[in-house]
Amino acid sequence: MADLELSSLTRIPKIELHAHLNGCVRLSHLQDLVEDSSTLPSRPGANATPRQYFQFMSAVGHVTGSSPHNLRVVLRRVLEDFEADGVVYLELRSSPKHTGSMSKVEYVETILETMCEYQGEMVVRYLVSVDQSKSLAEMNENADLAIHYAATSPLVVGLDLCGDFYSASKEHSMAVLQRCKNAGLKIACHIAEDPTTLDHTADMLRIIGPDRLGHATLILPDSEDGKFVKENNLLIECCMTSNILCRSVLKYEDHHFKKWYDLGHPVILCTDDSGTFDTSLSKEYQIAVKSFGMSRDDLKKMNFDCIRWIFDDDVKDRLYEIFKN
Ligand SMILES: [Zn+2]
Repeated sequence: MADLELSSLTRIPKIELHAHLNGCVRLSHLQDLVEDSSTLPSRPGANATPRQYFQFMSAVGHVTGSSPHNLRVVLRRVLEDFEADGVVYLELRSSPKHTGSMSKVEYVETILETMCEYQGEMVVRYLVSVDQSKSLAEMNENADLAIHYAATSPLVVGLDLCGDFYSASKEHSMAVLQRCKNAGLKIACHIAEDPTTLDHTADMLRIIGPDRLGHATLILPDSEDGKFVKENNLLIECCMTSNILCRSVLKYEDHHFKKWYDLGHPVILCTDDSGTFDTSLSKEYQIAVKSFGMSRDDLKKMNFDCIRWIFDDDVKDRLYEIFKN
């Protein structure tokens, strides 16, 4: 019988590949950063829509991005949370923002400086996000930053396509991703999360060829897109609680993680937005234990097997050692 204790699952070394900085912020992280905590946004209630979650994370991002100081403090607290949860390798994503007090360059520099100063044991890397709900010009600005910093900082290891898919333009996303792919960037792509995005899926997979897929909730293994995902061995980043709360999956037991896992296809459990959805990687593991009967050894093997798909090739050997021991 698998051990369901959270404390036992916390001790498993973990790889986190799909986590958004602003989504991982807990309101407690922000309380001493505002003069009046009643001005902080409220977490969406039980029946919130995906759009309400996007709006909440945007409001959190407003506090986080309002000064380099706030960004630094919040990022440090988020990193400490992941390390306390047993994470040994973290790829954290965030979309550079031009705020009242920071340019996009300062935003990225602040993230990189804070990651450099981080004293923990956990390896931290940064995926520059391109928000698909923004204008083509804004998306291109972020893509330029991703290309520049991937070439100049060892901490920047790829690009993430994210954001409110209801407002996305397929043509814009494809054009920006194609440019980044041509520049040699590794790409993690939110894909097939909602029926409204399904007409993007086939082209995204076949023309862009992302390195990893975020959610891919609506790609069934036996569909044409599913066959492509299998043939190309594309790792799927699965975020169960996020999908349940956004109602793209109705029950944990029905989550597509299990379907792909049973096929032996590469999948990894991730949190997406641990603050917004009040979860942690250990809690996601506990759900997998309860819903699918996974053991601690299964969870360790899932991590070991996904080392191949992390974006920083230089730390793979170190991670293999950690997991072997
Ligand atoms: Zn996400």
